[in-house]
Amino acid sequence: MSRDYNVIIIGSGPAGFSCAMQSSKFDQKVLVVESHEDYLGGTWINTGTVPSKALREAAKTILEFNNQFGDHESRKPYERFRMADLLQYKQEILEKENRKVKNDFINNNVDVARGFGRLLDDHTVEVETHLGTTETYTADYILLCTGSSPTEPGTFEIEHNKILDYKSILDLTHIPRRLVVIGSSVSAFEYATIFAALGTRITLLNEQDDYLTFLDHEIKEHFQQALHDRGITVKNGISIQDVEFNPLRNNTEVKFKANTGEQQLQVLETEHVLYLGGRKPNVGNLNLDKAGVKTDEDNFIIVDENYKTNVDSIYAAGDVIGFPSLASASFTQGRLAACNMFSISSLEMPEQIPYGIYTIPEISNIGMTEQEAEKMGLDITVGRAYFSEITKADMTNHNDGLLKLVFNTESLKLLGVHILGNEAANLVHLGQAVMALDGDVRYFIQHVMNYPTLSEAYRIAAFNGVNSVYKEGVQYKQILEEKNC
Ligand SMILES: Cc1cc2nc3c(=O)[nH]c(=O)nc-3n(C[C@H](O)[C@H](O)[C@H](O)COP(=O)(O)OP(=O)(O)OC[C@H]3O[C@@H](n4cnc5c(N)ncnc54)[C@H](O)[C@@H]3O)c2cc1C
Repeated sequence: MSRDYNVIIIGSGPAGFSCAMQSSKFDQKVLVVESHEDYLGGTWINTGTVPSKALREAAKTILEFNNQFGDHESRKPYERFRMADLLQYKQEILEKENRKVKNDFINNNVDVARGFGRLLDDHTVEVETHLGTTETYTADYILLCTGSSPTEPGTFEIEHNKILDYKSILDLTHIPRRLVVIGSSVSAFEYATIFAALGTRITLLNEQDDYLTFLDHEIKEHFQQALHDRGITVKNGISIQDVEFNPLRNNTEVKFKANTGEQQLQVLETEHVLYLGGRKPNVGNLNLDKAGVKTDEDNFIIVDENYKTNVDSIYAAGDVIGFPSLASASFTQGRLAACNMFSISSLEMPEQIPYGIYTIPEISNIGMTEQEAEKMGLDITVGRAYFSEITKADMTNHNDGLLKLVFNTESLKLLGVHILGNEAANLVHLGQAVMALDGDVRYFIQHVMNYPTLSEAYRIAAFNGVNSVYKEGVQYKQILEEKNC
């Protein structure tokens, strides 16, 4: 039966974008349905990844400038720089990225339908346009990649003026003097450190007992110290009772209680509150039941390892399927969905993916932590390089950091890389490549790397680790003589 398209993609975020591009390279006829009236690119370009990272780059530059050249009047960054300039910087990047997506779609003959897409059956999508009209399209395959939205706080309301969320923080008119961040997600720590870099006094209120628990313990300790050094207060294990603007005192009051110990009501006065809670999948009104697509108890769409739902012609990718809910992973998921639809089914998501936390300082990791390896009873060795040992870090005034390699003592195979410090999210990829190619830590010793670079940390950490293997009795000379690395 001839259908209008080979694939209809609902959502133009990273999952939809990469599925569209890969499908078009397979000479398939592609339609992308996007409900946003003006923009393509979803949370990725418009409200999440790109704007938050653009703001972060601007704040980091300001911090570096201040650290390097100081200010003889000891002014805070917010006295010297304007939020409007930071937002303008972010806006230009956002529009540039948007244009790229649009041009890529045009250049690859990907059609775009603007409007809200929903399923009519397992091959048919209805699009409700912004004019209120409806259009119907059929396709051999459908990819659902509608992303996620923030969850609402239970005890107060976001009014987007003083009490902000993921979106309204991007419209702030000035750099606040005081900001309370509520949440313990990666984004919560990213925004906390962005505003701390601009001189804002930050308190982070976390309703959980701990945060970023997936980090290697040593990296976490360094991060906690960095938060402390930047004057960021973190209060764990609290319950928010209320958040409200008090016009008489012209400030926003956050009322909370500790979950344990003395539980009297505490009140924090602040200028703004930024609520960064959890996220929920965008599946409402998609009519999943009309095609019989199944979801889990949290409404995330259930897929198999090929990103196929329980319905043969319907795939799903990105935040709408849940963990890891990253643009990085969504790009690969969307592409793999296209590969699987159009018969290249042997491709799989790699077992190990890197995680980047764009705090200031940055954190990134891949593979096992020291604690996980020990828990599994593996005989491992750790090699460390402190950024204070790296020439490039000295030159760039970024000598606060640590790169840690976890490797198998016997085989020297690299099992994990954990980094805190400048460019961590970039640096991790060298370790990732060695791990993916089943390499061992001798790679970092025996290959020439550019100098001076931050990658020198790998060499120092590898020497540090191999030296301690030697101290534990393994023939060091023999280790280095073996050629296979
Ligand atoms: C503040 C913040 C910072 C982040 N930082 C990072 C980071 O640094 N690195 C990283 O890897 N990830 C980051 N993420 C996560 C990343 O943004 C998401 O994982 C990613 O955007 C998910 O991609 P997606 O394709 O699933 O959906 P999205 O990017 O959300 O796109 C979904 C699209 O579908 C459209 N849509 C929804 N419903 C319909 C419908 N019924 N019909 C038509 N269109 C519809 C939406 O308008 C949207 O355009 C961040 C997220 C946030 C919130």
